[in-house]
Amino acid sequence: MPSLKKKLLNLDCPVEKNKEYIVTIIAMSSEGNGIAKINNFPIFIPNTAIGDIITTKIVKVLKNYAFGIVISIDTPSDFRIDNDCISYKQCGGCCYRHISYEAELNLKQQLVLDNFERIGKIDAKINNIVGSENISNYRNKAQFPVGIDDNGKVIAGFYAKRSHRIIPCCDCKLQPTIFNNILKTILELFNKYHISIYNEDKHTGGIRHIYLRQADFTNEIMLCFVSAKKTLKNSDEICKIISEKYPNIKSIVLNFNNTKGNVILGSECYTLYGKDTITDIMCGVQVQISPLSFYQVNKPQAERLYEKAIEYANLSKNDTLLDLYCGIGTIGLSAVSKVSQLIGVEIIEKAIENAKLNAKINNFDNTRFICDDCKGAVKQLKQEGINTDIIIVDPPRKGCDQEVIDTLIEFSPSKIVMISCNPSTAARDCSLLEQNGYKVIEYTPFDLFPRTAHVEVVCLLQKLNK
Ligand code: SAH
Repeated sequence: MPSLKKKLLNLDCPVEKNKEYIVTIIAMSSEGNGIAKINNFPIFIPNTAIGDIITTKIVKVLKNYAFGIVISIDTPSDFRIDNDCISYKQCGGCCYRHISYEAELNLKQQLVLDNFERIGKIDAKINNIVGSENISNYRNKAQFPVGIDDNGKVIAGFYAKRSHRIIPCCDCKLQPTIFNNILKTILELFNKYHISIYNEDKHTGGIRHIYLRQADFTNEIMLCFVSAKKTLKNSDEICKIISEKYPNIKSIVLNFNNTKGNVILGSECYTLYGKDTITDIMCGVQVQISPLSFYQVNKPQAERLYEKAIEYANLSKNDTLLDLYCGIGTIGLSAVSKVSQLIGVEIIEKAIENAKLNAKINNFDNTRFICDDCKGAVKQLKQEGINTDIIIVDPPRKGCDQEVIDTLIEFSPSKIVMISCNPSTAARDCSLLEQNGYKVIEYTPFDLFPRTAHVEVVCLLQKLNK
């Protein structure tokens, strides 16, 4: 029985759970769900498109909104195309496989604009979104959860939406086809050698995830077994068979993770075969990538994003470039020949080791990479008397910490280029900077993740009184 409080809360709610309604989809949410309204009450419905007239069944009612599912598409939207993936509705990876890419880009452009105008109250020029050349097989990284099916066979694939139930799948449209083939071979070998598989409920067993990464330029592949055990039974045989069958696999690593919870990778890596890293070329710079380092998953498109960031930075030979949240150093290193000095800051130690190595193998000696939290490092640089006129920031989804914003303001560079994978936190951070003497001059959305709800944005901010 619902409590009296719940009943009271939903008194004005125009929809009821399990009932069906005919609605028109009028907008899309930032998660890629269609939005319909009944008496102004929003209903979020996945796998729909703007303009669809559908019959929806309400599956969840909350105080201010509800969730529905599609029962029938009564009049389809003009934006619809045929979905080409059998796992689309179960998997949480893609949300736009049923609309044209052009419609998807328009939605993403509008989402970035809405965030900047509504959240950030930013009035600046927005450029047209830069779409991705490839909308299939563009991901260079995949992480497959591994489990056991009812017949005792090892399976891998993806988690069903909002659950930890593994849906076997060896045919993801976003990944290189070779990943799917490698995965099939690994599963055969795991079954053959009775490899111990992790049981999440009991916290027993070994293999938890299979993680693959491919360097786009060299085609080198890294295979990583994420395991709750530090050793892999029959490791030599398994590595030999896999590396002979797939000669592009240049590195096989065991990542040790025996923690409970959802974090995929642990902090310890043991190389079982080949090299510790794989090599790629990004913006003309040779880079070494470790399993633990962040690396852009759609590399050709990331290169275009970096080019835009560097164009915004408008660097000159006297500049010291500060690259905050630098990962393995890719953005800064691709611009290092244009400046007198590059300083990169990143919190993951392995990524900083990669960044230093990347500077060395490319013979860039005007670089310094600091492994620290950005807020601490920026303060330290300020104390050292380092002066920079240009700072590039590329924070994770949660955006810059307030202390980083404060130190940026204190550092007072004439230009800040902000790259972000989350337009809402980018809008918030740009707005904070606008309240402290900066102005967003222009910004450009970039689609690095076609068919998913993600969108990136790069913004140019200038100090007003300089
Ligand atoms: N600029 C890089 C990485 C961007 S992703 C590239 O394009 O490849 C964001 C990076 O910020 C990650 O490498 C993450 O490890 C790092 N990071 C997250 N929080 C941080 C913090 N507080 N201080 C420094 N680095 C941080």
